Amino acid sequence: MRSLPELANLDPFGEQAMTSGEHDLSDDLVAYYRQVLITHTTKPEVGACVVCSIPRCPDWLHAFDTLAAAGQVMTASPTAWEPFRPRPRRKR
Ligand SMILES: [Zn+2]
Repeated sequence: MRSLPELANLDPFGEQAMTSGEHDLSDDLVAYYRQVLITHTTKPEVGACVVCSIPRCPDWLHAFDTLAAAGQVMTASPTAWEPFRPRPRRKR
């Protein structure tokens, strides 16, 4: 005879696997990580971080991953960092 109410063990809140809030970044954090991305940017000529002198340094990677997980990836992509120079076209 089973008297154990197994259903009672199901905690309606404990079983929820909603971890959506985990990657929520505050505006301050987003700004901070973006600053890290800028500070630890990869120098195209060297192919490495300008601060750590290693390609894709941990600081940069962590900031990028965090921003990416939060859906806050900035415009700077890891591979194609090209300063856009608008060229005025002269047809005359
Ligand atoms: Zn670095």
